[in-house]
Amino acid sequence: MPPVPEQPTATYDWIIIGGGSGGSGASRRAASYGAKVALIESHRPGGTCVNVGCVPKKLMWHAADLRDKLLQSHDYELQSSNADPKFDWNAFKTKRDAYIGKLNGIYETNWKKEGIEYYRGKGVLTSPTTVEITPNDGGPRYTIGAKQICIAVGGRPTVPSEDIVPGASLGIDSDGFFDLTEQPKRVVVVGAGYIAVELAGIFNALGSETHLVIRRDRVLRTFDPLLQDTLTPWMEKTGVHLHTNSNVTKVEGVKGQALTVHTDKGEKIETDVLLWAVGRHSNTEGLGLEDAGITLDKAGNVVVDAYQNSSVQNITAIGDVQGKALLTPVAIAAGRKLANRLFGPEQFKEDKLSYENIPTVVFSHPPIGTVGLTEPQAVERYGADAIKIYKTSFKSLYFSMIDEPHKEPTVYKLICVGPEERVVGVHIIGQGSDEITQGFAVAVKLQARKQDLDDTVAIHPTSSEELVTLR
Ligand code: FAD
Ligand code: NDP
Repeated sequence: MPPVPEQPTATYDWIIIGGGSGGSGASRRAASYGAKVALIESHRPGGTCVNVGCVPKKLMWHAADLRDKLLQSHDYELQSSNADPKFDWNAFKTKRDAYIGKLNGIYETNWKKEGIEYYRGKGVLTSPTTVEITPNDGGPRYTIGAKQICIAVGGRPTVPSEDIVPGASLGIDSDGFFDLTEQPKRVVVVGAGYIAVELAGIFNALGSETHLVIRRDRVLRTFDPLLQDTLTPWMEKTGVHLHTNSNVTKVEGVKGQALTVHTDKGEKIETDVLLWAVGRHSNTEGLGLEDAGITLDKAGNVVVDAYQNSSVQNITAIGDVQGKALLTPVAIAAGRKLANRLFGPEQFKEDKLSYENIPTVVFSHPPIGTVGLTEPQAVERYGADAIKIYKTSFKSLYFSMIDEPHKEPTVYKLICVGPEERVVGVHIIGQGSDEITQGFAVAVKLQARKQDLDDTVAIHPTSSEELVTLR
């Protein structure tokens, strides 16, 4: 911990509040240019992604995927005595937590190496150039100052209020998922977005009786309809109890023991754990932003321009707190580009992140990859007559050896525009889609035409070769 300044001092070039993906990326890039940077973090280094997001989630997804593979290994004539492999949730959690602990240490070491001054505590803006820190160790509050301040405080899960859903607080959220020390036998997940789909998929593949309560008829409403139409029935076929067009009205019981989840369709679902996955909101309350004149939108996100500038000069915001594209690589890229612009060489003076064509993966079973416009978005932007759709649906070679009910679908869609058939959307679901998407995102970014894909020699035998042989 750097020495505690007794008086507000403008000793820093940049104060960044929040040491998650965005804050860490921004501070390291700025420090590499010689800027004097203070980084304030109230919890664990690395933020959501490292501690309660991408990283532990992906490890759980791997565990679930492995259990699927173990079950399928019989179809590959691998004889194993264990037809029902048991997952030791708590032993795995211990291992997972230890790995996350190591990552926390790596973040801290990297900050130190770059000469970043790391403050462990909660930061609150007290003026456009000063931040008051309440140290985590209970020490007295103090204030530091800087020419520039960046808000990178991320967000947290939303849980319905007790007024709206009596008993809602008996449930947990995605942070609570990572605290579970044993695998629930029965679980109810509410929501239809990334987190609901991913966590319900993990529970189901690991053998929990999994209920998914969604308020419409399909999951992943903002994704291309083909992906919604493929994943929703497949989740149901693989054992997820889907409660469509349903809203939770009341929850009763004892947290950590047994709960009854009531829906507006009159259902009473008995469960051990209820998990809310109904979205996230920014950590902007009590941060002093409005008092400093910073404009927030209705949802509490910091409103920024294309350069991440807030409505107050020299105060910027990056990552989830600005409410757009809540993804780790987006927060990191925005942070690095902002640091380039503020502290980098002349050539970066206009640097900014493009929020177009951001690739993303949903770690569902099977995984989804997507980049660019969905079909409805493409029709809206270019008109139906200008669009050409290429689609294919097949079972990948791997599943040729697997018994029929377990053969996962693979469905690919390309959305092309204009006479030159520029590829403006790639939407895929199926085994390996999580790893396939990155390369096709480069193609979309380079404004590839359908002909460019056709001119690319296929790699055989793979699933992705279908994307360069579509007719
Ligand atoms: P955060 O990483 O949330 O960092 C903000 C930091 O600010 C936190 O560490 C917080 O403690 C700190 N902070 C808050 N207030 C203060 C304060 N007043 N003073 C000091 N510090 C403060 N994205 C992907 O790209 N891929 C994935 O697979 C993926 N999986 C996810 C799974 C889950 C379950 C969740 C919840 C999210 C997932 N995400 C994923 C999203 C990703 O985690 C976020 O987009 C990313 O972490 C945002 O980075 P950030 O820097 O904006 O915020
Ligand atoms: P999302 O915005 O993805 O989804 C929120 C879901 O909550 C929607 O399905 C919405 O339903 C539903 N919902 C909202 N209010 C209610 C309600 N009152 N009752 C029932 N359902 C409700 O948010 P998540 O929390 O899943 O994830 C937050 C963000 O984190 C994601 O947008 C993503 O950017 C990031 N993330 C990324 C991951 C990745 O990259 N793999 C993984 C996890 C998170 P409806 O569709 O009907 O509106």
